Amino acid sequence: MIGAIMECRACQREVNGELFLCNKCSLNLRDNLNEIPALQFEAANFLTPGRSGSGFVSTERSIGFNVAAMDYSIASDILPLLHDYEAKIRRGRKLTPPALLQRQPSIDLEVAATASFHLAHLDWTLKQEWVGDFSAEVKKIHAKGLSVTKKFIEKPRRIPCPTDGCKAHVVIDIENLLSGVTCLKCKASWTLYRLIQLAMDNPNRRFWLDMEAICLWLNMTKREVLKVVKVHKIPKRNGLYDIAAIVKKRHDEFHEKNL
Ligand SMILES: [Zn+2]
Ligand SMILES: [Zn+2]
Repeated sequence: MIGAIMECRACQREVNGELFLCNKCSLNLRDNLNEIPALQFEAANFLTPGRSGSGFVSTERSIGFNVAAMDYSIASDILPLLHDYEAKIRRGRKLTPPALLQRQPSIDLEVAATASFHLAHLDWTLKQEWVGDFSAEVKKIHAKGLSVTKKFIEKPRRIPCPTDGCKAHVVIDIENLLSGVTCLKCKASWTLYRLIQLAMDNPNRRFWLDMEAICLWLNMTKREVLKVVKVHKIPKRNGLYDIAAIVKKRHDEFHEKNL
């Protein structure tokens, strides 16, 4: 007989011992459970246009009301899922059944209460065969929270410092064009707007940006950008595009049209 080697129920990596999730997947589950209440609370700030504090326009905003944020804010997916599994845990551990618990006075508090219940019992949950399904569902809910509060576009973007001889990269926030940016290495400062112009004008450097940032910067839709990329064979690297090449092609097109 071979010893009990099990597979992680989420990523199929090998796990030893009595847990059904590997270390990494356990940590992810814990983080997700930790963050869901904050995401749910924040979702209320994304219901209507102009309340997000950024110029980003999504299709959902253009209809004037963000339905996904509303759903998230009233926890219409979160609570049924977490309560379901909470009931399962309470049965399994012979705790007070849900019917005998007092309801929290608000949705926010209800979400916070069930999330902290799950965190408190996580060590036990990790030993249950169903933890793979549970972690997958929690991951889905967490991802939805990130997308309604649009955390996913807040990832830092880095561009090469345009100062000659400086090899550093500068972290930028593409949504705040007028904010100041400083290179930590050469200490030069610019507004973001100026920095990007300088970087694009530097013939010795290629300047890569992701699709979302390019759309924001050039005020184009994803479809329009992809069309330029395809027609003009714009250089690509790891899902990033050479924005200076796109700007140049657009400029050329504009001149051809107006000749
Ligand atoms: Zn795993
Ligand atoms: Zn620099």
